[in-house]
Amino acid sequence: MTKQYDLIAIGGGSGGLAVAERAAQLGRRVAVIDAQPLGGTCVNAGCVPKKVMWHAAQAREALTQASAFGIRAQDSGLDWDQLVAGRNAYIDGIRDYWAGYAQDQHIDWVRGEARFIDAHTLRVGNAHYRGEHIVIATGGRPIVPPVPGAELGITSDGFFELREQPRRVAVIGGGYIGVELSGVLRALGSEVSIIALEERVLEVFDPLISDTLMEAMQQQGIATHMGFQVSALARDGEGIDIVSARGKHLRGFDTVIWAVGRRANTEGLALERAGVEVNRNGVIPVDAFDATNVAGVYAIGDVTGRMPLTPVAIRAGRQLAARLFGTAAAPMDYTNIPTVVFAHPPVGTLGLTEPAACAEYGRTVRIYETRFTPMRHALGDGGTPTAMKLVCAGPEEHIVGCHLIGDGVDEMLQGFAVAINMGATKADFDRTVAIHPTSAEELVTLKTARPGGCALAEVA
Ligand SMILES: Cc1cc2nc3c(=O)[nH]c(=O)nc-3n(C[C@H](O)[C@H](O)[C@H](O)COP(=O)(O)OP(=O)(O)OC[C@H]3O[C@@H](n4cnc5c(N)ncnc54)[C@H](O)[C@@H]3O)c2cc1C
Repeated sequence: MTKQYDLIAIGGGSGGLAVAERAAQLGRRVAVIDAQPLGGTCVNAGCVPKKVMWHAAQAREALTQASAFGIRAQDSGLDWDQLVAGRNAYIDGIRDYWAGYAQDQHIDWVRGEARFIDAHTLRVGNAHYRGEHIVIATGGRPIVPPVPGAELGITSDGFFELREQPRRVAVIGGGYIGVELSGVLRALGSEVSIIALEERVLEVFDPLISDTLMEAMQQQGIATHMGFQVSALARDGEGIDIVSARGKHLRGFDTVIWAVGRRANTEGLALERAGVEVNRNGVIPVDAFDATNVAGVYAIGDVTGRMPLTPVAIRAGRQLAARLFGTAAAPMDYTNIPTVVFAHPPVGTLGLTEPAACAEYGRTVRIYETRFTPMRHALGDGGTPTAMKLVCAGPEEHIVGCHLIGDGVDEMLQGFAVAINMGATKADFDRTVAIHPTSAEELVTLKTARPGGCALAEVA
């Protein structure tokens, strides 16, 4: 017998749960299909366990800085087992919450992997499920490149399964997951090397962020090997060797972590049976309303390749359900989405980088920036620097980009994002009375502007 639903979400992660929850609240019959515990990547192997590890790293850092304030704290080491057990128990609680909540909302959780039979019918095991609307929210998984010995490395999924703290670790990849894992492991006491093809970490971010973070990582003792194309991993006695395309060797790692990007989870879905188009990299192309090329089949979240962030998947899911069953909600707006990288120190960024603003607004771009030692480090050895940049454009100096790195910026950005999304200008920031003494006050007291790099490039 085929069970009928108004909406079926394939994938019980951030996007799938959000679309299912809103559809159920609008009185529809809804199912979510997932073989894994509900919560998806964010809960099980992403944001949540990562942030627990980041808090642990912050705590350890604070301990080393405490002596500057006369506090005789002693760091007698890290109990990895206790940290991991605490983290896993916390995640178990969130999984349980989601399982119970789905039940309370009358969402059926079908445990298994879904495959299309046709555009409206899915097969899970031997059972068939028919949905008037089917939403693909299957997320992504880490890429392991096809180089010899690649299997000697683990991915971010494997990082969360480590039974002991790596002693000497190499993280391959300078994107946000690579810098986050490097920073956490270093602060927790591992010897860390970061290896990347690019010349700078977080290369797509504003140069102020990449440069300041590189400097901070080096200051913390992280070895940076940039412009390094990994061509093989090899076992060498007890350790793992990393070999570059130019024949350079980095030796003696007990753990190697691949953090070279993620790939959409679409292979197992039999999309061809429904006629759903898929790009070569596995991503499902959709229009502004999350519709695929097949009527009644939609895709949201990481599987669409657009801004792979939990709140983005959630927002897209809620708006899709509202469009299908409620009021005609607008399409998801992908501009000015704030995001934080939980590096050491953290990074917060929103809107256009300076080069992107130059490309869009040319000579009208004006840059306000600052760099200072936050007060928290005033009594110590200087700590890591804080740097901030506002990218303004046009005669009214609308703020089109905000780039922050330093202690506390992870919590600082959200409020500024509201103002910038409302169309704030530099004058609006100047009119706002500062909160003293904080790092955030620097953003409303920036005085001197310089022309954007585009104007400088023209002069040169
Ligand atoms: C290490 C790491 C750290 C991150 N940190 C952050 C952060 O700090 N902040 C942030 O906003 N984002 C972060 N992210 C990204 C965030 O986790 C994703 O953007 C988010 O989970 C995407 O949600 P989704 O619904 O698209 O997919 P997912 O949450 O990945 O859910 C997809 C679900 O689909 C299921 N599935 C796959 N195939 C099938 C199938 N055939 N049948 C049934 N089910 C299937 C999977 O089991 C999974 O549960 C992080 C990601 C990683 C890897």
